[in-house]
Amino acid sequence: MRGNVISYIEMCQKEGTSLQRGMNFRLKGHHSVILMSIRPNAPYHDEVQDDGAVLIYEGHDEPRRKGVANPKSLDQPERLPGGSLTENGKFHQAAQQFKVGKKGADIVQVYEKIKAGIWTDNGFFHLIDSWIESDGIRKVFKFKLIAVENVSDTSAAVEAESYLVERSRIIPTSVKLEVWARDGGKCVTCGATDELHFDHIVPFAKGGTSLKAENIQLLCARHNLSKSAKIL
Ligand SMILES: [Zn+2]
Repeated sequence: MRGNVISYIEMCQKEGTSLQRGMNFRLKGHHSVILMSIRPNAPYHDEVQDDGAVLIYEGHDEPRRKGVANPKSLDQPERLPGGSLTENGKFHQAAQQFKVGKKGADIVQVYEKIKAGIWTDNGFFHLIDSWIESDGIRKVFKFKLIAVENVSDTSAAVEAESYLVERSRIIPTSVKLEVWARDGGKCVTCGATDELHFDHIVPFAKGGTSLKAENIQLLCARHNLSKSAKIL
């Protein structure tokens, strides 16, 4: 669920595989999974725009191997030496096919590292665009994804005409970090430190903002559920 705080192990359990890479195109033939970070020391320049509705995700470098001294000095690869597509190439192809109407938008589950050992489930996105740009030194891939609600996680892509329905947004990293520090990494109701969730005090669907720490609090799964029940 979007906003849940989870560990790396829980992420792997949820996806049913060991997430060794940041980009995972159509895991098991279903949705794709990407790991993002916008921390100052993050290896890639991922960016959240439009108040959390849009994610611009950077492609990934050549892996470190013999003969590759500094991957950051090389163009990000579209193909492997053998000619098959890299994860950059696969996401790029899917985004371009979507853009020309050949297929629906790919569904991408996004997880975000907010601190060492602390990840959040940023929910599902649709992959709607991609391009190659210069970062000043070399060429990098950029992927545009939009946050969406109520996506089935059993398919790889949505029907061509049904994208852009039920758009959503994520809580910006800076707000998550502010809330985490203020609430001491604990449920504000009972002090539990596991199964935490970034909860909107006034729900997003009722006009509550995601952009201010004053409207976000940490709740454990139990207190998040009991609160949802009251609101419904
Ligand atoms: Zn609690």
